[in-house]
Amino acid sequence: TVKAKGRNSYLFFHKNMEERSLERILLENEMKKAIKLDQFTLEYQPKIDIKSGKLIGMEALVRWNHPELGKIPPGKFIPIAEETGLITVLGEVILRKGCEQTHRWQEEGYTDLVLSVNLSTKQLYQNDLIEKIKLILRETNLDSKWLELEVTETAFTNIDNAQSILQEIRDLGIQVSIDDFGAGYSSFSYLKNLPVNTLKIDASFIRDIDLNKESQAIVNGIVDIAEKLKLNVIAEGIETVEQLDQLKDAECPQGQGYYFSKPLTADTFHQFLKKEHRLTFH
Ligand code: C2E
Ligand code: MG
Ligand code: MG
Ligand code: MG
Repeated sequence: TVKAKGRNSYLFFHKNMEERSLERILLENEMKKAIKLDQFTLEYQPKIDIKSGKLIGMEALVRWNHPELGKIPPGKFIPIAEETGLITVLGEVILRKGCEQTHRWQEEGYTDLVLSVNLSTKQLYQNDLIEKIKLILRETNLDSKWLELEVTETAFTNIDNAQSILQEIRDLGIQVSIDDFGAGYSSFSYLKNLPVNTLKIDASFIRDIDLNKESQAIVNGIVDIAEKLKLNVIAEGIETVEQLDQLKDAECPQGQGYYFSKPLTADTFHQFLKKEHRLTFH
């Protein structure tokens, strides 16, 4: 207990709590300003077809370079945005930017790229989500078939709710991917019941796949199950050629990670597109 640790740690505990909530309040306010001032940007990380080495799409990842505080990682501010409800408006900003940019690239002739956007659990259960997505697709002129939403397993605690909202998303023609697959409380029952397209194997299994037999077995198993369920599979967090070789052995069809490319600014991603036909990742 707190008391058992003595007076000093008791005080420290409280100071710590206070600092944490102050930081929270600070970041919440700064996020509100940053939304108004349009200071959130997106980076795009290539997704690759492992057999051909070809680019198939890109995951949009939000970036915040605060004028005084510097770069703040999404792992820090997204949870606060979720707790405070700001994720609703921030999520719309992100989706709109990603769709706009993807449509611009389509106009440049890059017509077959799927945009993946992360969707927080909180957003998934936002009551006007479907209307907002429809509006953004209409306003940005992006055909829904080029959009994929990545959701994590934490969204599936209530299978019935998840099923109906995911079905509405699928009915719009949007693809759905389970992000960080295997890292949470994966259950085969939701694979049976949920209308998802893709399993995105969590980076934790890829990190040691070239050394760890268990990770290899798990990845092989996920790829096999996906194939039998007619689901697509992508591995995230591929950093080395050794990891890629293991994924080739497992016949994992798609991959993403620093080995291929870090997340890129829109300009740099555009450069990447221009030279993509010369790139091979074999
Ligand atoms: P995620 O969706 O699983 O995204 C993958 C994270 O791994 C990204 O971190 C990406 O930059 C990083 N990554 C990609 N390849 C590699 C690699 O080879 N090695 C390593 N070590 N890392 C790699 P990032 O951008 O910091 O995002 C972290 C998490 O924050 C995301 O995990 C996602 O849950 C959340 N997030 C990021 N952008 C958004 C967004 O626009 N909306 C929402 N709701 N969440 C977001
Ligand atoms: Mg993701
Ligand atoms: Mg992930
Ligand atoms: Mg993650």
